[in-house]
Amino acid sequence: MFHYLNLFMKCDKCSQKAVITLEYGPHFLCKKHFVAFFESRFKKTIRKYSLLRAKEKLLVAVSGGKDSLVTLNLIKKFYDKNNIIEALIIDEGVEGYRNKAINIAKQTCKKLDIPFEVVSFKKEFGCTNDEIMPLLKNNPKLGGTCAFCGTMRRNIMNRYAKKNKADKLITGHNLDDEVQSFVMNVFNNDFDKLLRMGATSGIIEHEGFVKRIKPLYETPEKEIIAYCAYKNIKHYSQECCPYSWTAKRNEYREMLNKFENRFPGTMFSILRFYQNLKPFVVPNEKEKNKLKNKLKVCVNCGEPTEKEICKVCEMIQKIKNEKNTSPNKKSKSNRSQKKKNKKLTCAVTKYQK
Ligand code: AMP
Ligand code: ZN
Ligand code: ZN
Repeated sequence: MFHYLNLFMKCDKCSQKAVITLEYGPHFLCKKHFVAFFESRFKKTIRKYSLLRAKEKLLVAVSGGKDSLVTLNLIKKFYDKNNIIEALIIDEGVEGYRNKAINIAKQTCKKLDIPFEVVSFKKEFGCTNDEIMPLLKNNPKLGGTCAFCGTMRRNIMNRYAKKNKADKLITGHNLDDEVQSFVMNVFNNDFDKLLRMGATSGIIEHEGFVKRIKPLYETPEKEIIAYCAYKNIKHYSQECCPYSWTAKRNEYREMLNKFENRFPGTMFSILRFYQNLKPFVVPNEKEKNKLKNKLKVCVNCGEPTEKEICKVCEMIQKIKNEKNTSPNKKSKSNRSQKKKNKKLTCAVTKYQK
């Protein structure tokens, strides 16, 4: 955690007043040197994990939140010369929540002169989150809200990355996201998901999957908030998604933030532990080939899958069945979901300058 400082500390790099303490260092940095440190780590992460190459077409997935907008700004700032950059905005269909964020995402793309496309769940799957989520609430056996929405989003990202002939799909996932996922996968004994984590996601390379990369993978969330404040990066920060009320991730976030506050550096330690572990557990070439050979093409949407139809198409089918079999079941209104939502621990997205 960093503290908003502190009349007496001086920047480690110059004699200016420090505005931020990065306690895992600890570094005391003035505004100028914090911004330089932040941007240099972004580029370093890209080099360290070989995330990008010159002349690639990059599709940045932009939600309108702080992480993806910082990513978009920095990709534009440092990689525009040698790469083609486009943005993908997904409209999940959450009235009163997504439209505000989408507007900010669009405005930023226009300001940065980045071509963008908005793709909606409604057009792609025939239903919005506002239609799907009440059905999940009535019948939790169908699956968790965030798992549903996330899987649908990843399906769109991959299909549109292929359609736009992108070499890389870039997301704004940060250090906190990655560490929460690690701990969640351990607690759920989900070894398959654990193996797929990393600055580049996925286990195997296959023409059906566009590589997803995370340049903010080693950047703590709180520093992204500070960077937005110092660089005046406008982003959507009002509330968390009204449908994340069941998300276990909120509890992991709370637990890990508590640890990070008491024992600074915990998040980095967990990330390094995973990185040390991974080489011992990833499948070898033979096993990877086996996995590749298992892949077929979804008869419905054309995405890679091990079965006849892919997970997303299966989920959409379940939703359609549920809609048909329980037309009269009414879920609690959005308003009551929003009320519940107020109790959630979202990522803190405000930072005082
Ligand atoms: P989240 O799972 O909401 O933390 O999002 C992680 C990353 O996925 C974001 O930083 C974006 O890059 C991407 N993303 C999430 N939601 C959207 C969306 N609606 N449209 C485009 N990209 C998104
Ligand atoms: Zn300084
Ligand atoms: Zn499919």
